[in-house]
Formats: sequence, structure tokens, C-alpha cells
Amino acid sequence: MRHPLVMGNWKLNGSRHMVHELIAALRNEVSTVAGCEVAIAPPAIYLDMAKHELAGSRIALGAQDTGTNVSGAFTGETSVEMLKDVGTKYVIIGHSERRTYHKESDEFIAEKFAVIKEAGLVPVLCIGETEAENAAGKTEEVCARQLDAVLKTMGAQVFKDTVIAYEPVWAIGTGKSATPAQAQAVHKFIRDHIAKHNAEAAASVIIQYGGSVNASNAAELFTQPDIDGALVGGASLKADAFAVIVKAA
Ligand code: PGA
Repeated sequence: MRHPLVMGNWKLNGSRHMVHELIAALRNEVSTVAGCEVAIAPPAIYLDMAKHELAGSRIALGAQDTGTNVSGAFTGETSVEMLKDVGTKYVIIGHSERRTYHKESDEFIAEKFAVIKEAGLVPVLCIGETEAENAAGKTEEVCARQLDAVLKTMGAQVFKDTVIAYEPVWAIGTGKSATPAQAQAVHKFIRDHIAKHNAEAAASVIIQYGGSVNASNAAELFTQPDIDGALVGGASLKADAFAVIVKAA
């Protein structure tokens, strides 16, 4: 059966000093928490250092993105094999910041999903609607389209033991989280959408909520049956706040 996963998405924040300090604090705060998997996703350049700092702890390592090529003349790219080489387990893809600022398409993100699975790593597929799409009543349509890009090319079984993060774009970094009921409705829609094709994959896929999760709203979000932990941005940069969220899961 699936377990909750709380992952810190550090985004473009950090330094060697911060990696050392924050991981030391996290090891202290979350080492005794059972029943919830914990992961952090620092910027790519600090993954190797973070892996060393995490040695012997139960905190897993995640990357914030990946390229789709394995090796060769692709200046500036990072490959899944490199992420694997430094001990990464999870790879976030399709974050709304990548979709918006880097114009990443559903198809390109599906390609990333495929290379991550092929390498034996775990994709964390971010999906979610913008404020305008939400206002227009298009939440389910948008989420279905973003899921279908993967479903169409790889089939529903590919979601078995992977992670989806439902992150309404209007809730990211705004302090305006979806309510537990709002989030649960979309999480259920996502699980049902996959279940139409493959019930086993739907039951096993971890569906995280993301978007202004903090120490005060996490516990209530996690009471919902289809919310399996969280992808946490801002609050993951403070060990005490992140630890409260982990304990709530
Ligand atoms: P936030 O970011 O927690 O700062 O809203 C979440 C995310 O973008 O993954």
C-alpha cells in the first residue's frame, strides 16, 4: 500500500553553507518520524554534496528537473544517469515554473517521465491549473490533459509506484493554499482518471499536494484520503516548519 511522501523543493535557493546547516537540522528534527517518507530536492549543483551530508539518514534525495538526453553534445544539460550516479531517488518534472519560464510542453514532460522510469528513478510529475483556468472551471480538464500526455505514450501501468504532485499554480508561493476539500476533490479526480485504465496503478500512485503548505495547514490537508503527503517549497527551507509538516503526515 502507498505511504505518504513529504518532499522539500528548495527551488533556486542554497549555498554549500546552507546545504550543510539545513541538512544537519533536518537530520535532527525528522530522524525519529516513522510512517512517512521524507526527501529533499536541492539545486542540481548541490545534489552530490547533499547526498554526502544525508549519509546514514532516512531522508531521500530528489532532483528538481532533468534533461532527456543521456550524454553527448548537449551543453548545459543534466542527465538522469548523472542524477542516479550521485544517489538521487526522485526527480521532479513538469513543475509550473518549468512549464511557464521554460515553455516545457506536456509531451516534453512525458518524455522526461519515460527516461526517469527507464533509469529506475521515481518521477514526481507536477500538474495543476492556473488561476484563470480554475476560474473558468477547467481544473479537471487541465489535469486530465497533463496526465494524458503520459498515459497516451506509456499507458496507465507506468504510474505504479510513482508520484504525482497536484499543485494549483495559484497556490504556489502565494500563501493561498487550496482548502483540504478542494484539494481532495482534485486528488480523487486524478486517482479515478488513472483507475479508469489501471486500478492497481491508481491505488499505488502517491498523490502529493503542493502550494503554500506550511506548519499550520498541513495536518488538515493530510486528513484527506487521497492526499499522500506534500511537495513543499518555501516552508522546506526552515527545518522546524518542515519537521512539523513531516510529523503531520
Ligand atoms: P510553495 O511551493 O510551498 O512555496 O507554495 C510549492 C512548490 O512549488 O512545489
